[in-house]
Amino acid sequence: MYATTLRCVFCGTEYPLTHRGPCTTCARPGEENALHETLGVQYDVAALKRQLDREELARRPAGLWRYRELLPVVDPAFRIDLGAGGTRLVPLTRISEAVAGSKLLMKVEGSNPTGSFKDRPIGVAACVALEQGARGLACLTSGNIGSAMAAFAAKAGVPALVLLLGAAGLADQGAPVNVEKYVQISAYGARVLTPIGNLGQLYALADRIEAELGWSFLHNVQAYQSDGDKTTAFEICEQLGWQAPAAVFVPTGTGTNLFGLWQGFVLFKELGFLDTLPRMFAVQPVGAASLVAAWEAHQAVPTALERIEPNLALPISHRVSGYHAYRAMQESGGGAIAVTDGEILAAMRDLASYEGIYAETASAAALAGIRRALAAGLLDPDESHRAGVVGILTSHGLKNSLALTGVFSPPPKVEGTWEVLQSSLELN
Ligand SMILES: [Zn+2]
Repeated sequence: MYATTLRCVFCGTEYPLTHRGPCTTCARPGEENALHETLGVQYDVAALKRQLDREELARRPAGLWRYRELLPVVDPAFRIDLGAGGTRLVPLTRISEAVAGSKLLMKVEGSNPTGSFKDRPIGVAACVALEQGARGLACLTSGNIGSAMAAFAAKAGVPALVLLLGAAGLADQGAPVNVEKYVQISAYGARVLTPIGNLGQLYALADRIEAELGWSFLHNVQAYQSDGDKTTAFEICEQLGWQAPAAVFVPTGTGTNLFGLWQGFVLFKELGFLDTLPRMFAVQPVGAASLVAAWEAHQAVPTALERIEPNLALPISHRVSGYHAYRAMQESGGGAIAVTDGEILAAMRDLASYEGIYAETASAAALAGIRRALAAGLLDPDESHRAGVVGILTSHGLKNSLALTGVFSPPPKVEGTWEVLQSSLELN
């Protein structure tokens, strides 16, 4: 076991690995939960350097547990393997920016077992929770966390409760729940409820679930979620021939994924596996872009938005993102970019129709953000061309097809004749 402690990126306080909940020094009652996600798992880097090298890693099968020494699960019996991780890093070749010479690569996380990147953070957090003795698993989610948790609970043979919202950040604005997601979660056998109440009230339920049922509410082990997200960074570096890209664009809600990716790049550099670090960019929907507001106003800590404006990227629509992600943006020399629904939709269509990659709408924000950054001159052309720019396509398009029936109208019914077919093709 090489994990040593949990450390707060805000104040530096350290906690034992069994600590639950946020940093008790920094968390203030009544604040948005996302701001409290400041803990990260620390590792004994000196011991890891003696034990692990690039050649050893390269010999192992792809997936989460390829990096077992760099994850906090001790007992192999608790390393549940659903086939998470090992996703492709796809060079774009046909969209206009790639044709013009930009080296753009997409990490296609929708090919994880439950269709989203959440199989990494929730897979690791669920395994840690079960290893620490949890008798069941629970979470609050707009969907993808719930699907991942329910699948791991199914494989582990433990009960699961999913509190499903239309969008976690819209708990008191009553957004409708996503049909594809509740069906998927229910199929894995989890109990699914849509609770009514504000986020503070719902998080208070977490303590009751833990105290009275002995289950783990996965928001209370956030540090283990971002630790699972590190594996995305590890894979990107390996897929680039043990190089870091110039920049990484992450669709960002609470910011745990962006923070986890940054931790992964930093750990690989500390281990001597990399020479450089990438710039980390958060991409958020216009109307739910707290990191953009914080970055532009040079705030010390992101402040919560009064309300969220409706948009097409609900899974990344939160009133505030975590300080951990903000810190990663700042340390890496990156930034935050807001994109419109129109830009997100165009990116989603282009990825599908030019590159054959069908991504959930919120995921396509990654490409929309890259396009904005290129247009605004935020990326150094030489560096980007040499090292490449990576977008994280967080989940599969099948996760929200029903929301797009207004964009893609149902196929027309026509006479099944050659003439009609021919004239239809000509029209296109
Ligand atoms: Zn703290």
